[in-house]
Amino acid sequence: MPERVQIVEVGPRDGLQNESVILTTDQKLKMICDLANAGLRRIETVSFAHPDKVPQMADAEAVMRGLPRRDDVNYIGLILNWRGWQRAADTTVDEINMNVSASTTFNRRNQGADTEETIDALGQVVQDATTKGMPVTGTIATAWGCPFEGEVPLDRVLFVAESIAKTGVSEIAIADTIGVADPWSVTQRIEAVRDVVGGVPLRAHFHNTRNTGIANAFAAIQAGITVLDASVGGLGGCPFAPDATGNIPTEDLVYMLDRAGISTGVGLEDLIDVSRGLTDLIDHPLEAMLPRAGGFPSGCLKDQ
Ligand code: ZN
Repeated sequence: MPERVQIVEVGPRDGLQNESVILTTDQKLKMICDLANAGLRRIETVSFAHPDKVPQMADAEAVMRGLPRRDDVNYIGLILNWRGWQRAADTTVDEINMNVSASTTFNRRNQGADTEETIDALGQVVQDATTKGMPVTGTIATAWGCPFEGEVPLDRVLFVAESIAKTGVSEIAIADTIGVADPWSVTQRIEAVRDVVGGVPLRAHFHNTRNTGIANAFAAIQAGITVLDASVGGLGGCPFAPDATGNIPTEDLVYMLDRAGISTGVGLEDLIDVSRGLTDLIDHPLEAMLPRAGGFPSGCLKDQ
């Protein structure tokens, strides 16, 4: 088991972009600052998707302008194409995450291009970002299944992983965009991907759509993954993936890792406070369990 797992908080982006309630820029800024204060050191804050398609992220530039600079926190901007990169490059994002879907049908619907075209665009983004000293993560979306194509064959995932690695990205995230993975296929796919990416660090991204998310995270850690995406409260989904629900909840993941003695640097109680605060802003109960159950009980007999 690793001594440490890094959590990439994706609630402000993957989470909020699937909520029908659109938070104000100020509400987003407070949420992101609270998450940083709870100990999260990599936070996906914005998406540079087209504002007509993802209105929840239309204020990306304003969010980045409003965020305080912190040497100890990296703000990540999601992009889908070269145009997104041009917008991102004009802001203060510290890192780029670019989506490449293993399923070409999903890639066309999500970002209007074939997968191969998006891989070419990623190569150009990496070249340009490198001159600015900015790290780029390539995310393999629909790495298990696609709402339009169904099963995504492992060979296809490996082709995309290998192609992304060749662009020179600094990290590759393997994403179960629609929450269909199971722990055993997580082990299998992570091991297979690792064999073709030539040492590029891996990260994993799970949705809890079918209640396998935390089990998948466990399997990923057992398979050697030390960077995991999660969203506070379990906010999340994907507007282009019908019925996709939230990411694995950050506080539930932190609880599991805390109990295993794996350090995340995140304060569980602070995080639960952030999550409870969001409940008032979102129009439905959040998926996370920890805000309801609380952390490990201190024991009611302790003081007797
Ligand atoms: Zn996602």
